[in-house]
Amino acid sequence: MDIEKTKKYYEQLSDEEVCDCTYCQNYVKQIKATYPKLAAYLDEMGVNIEKPFEAIPIAEAEGVMLYSGVQYVVMGKAEDFKDTSIENSEIFITDSHPMTGISEDHFVIEIAPIELKWIMKKVI
Ligand SMILES: [Zn+2]
Repeated sequence: MDIEKTKKYYEQLSDEEVCDCTYCQNYVKQIKATYPKLAAYLDEMGVNIEKPFEAIPIAEAEGVMLYSGVQYVVMGKAEDFKDTSIENSEIFITDSHPMTGISEDHFVIEIAPIELKWIMKKVI
């Protein structure tokens, strides 16, 4: 992976480009404070935890939202990335994601699962 390129990618990615659906917004608002170790791990890779590529919600129950996975773009080649787990979430490379529209070498990692409080007004 290319940490410098990844940093640049997240720097030029504006908040408006992050998905504005309520599931993603609920995630963005809480993830850093709720999963500090995960935030630190991603930061070392150059990934901004508050700019997910895709958050995949499963279900909300009693004020808790479960995400089956949350995906992030990482620049560079995937070969030096190693699967790991942090704070009860697995981190691995996924091929099952929407088109990124990025032409340079990159890959998508998924963090799964993630559990957060549901702080948005309504669940669709
Ligand atoms: Zn979304």
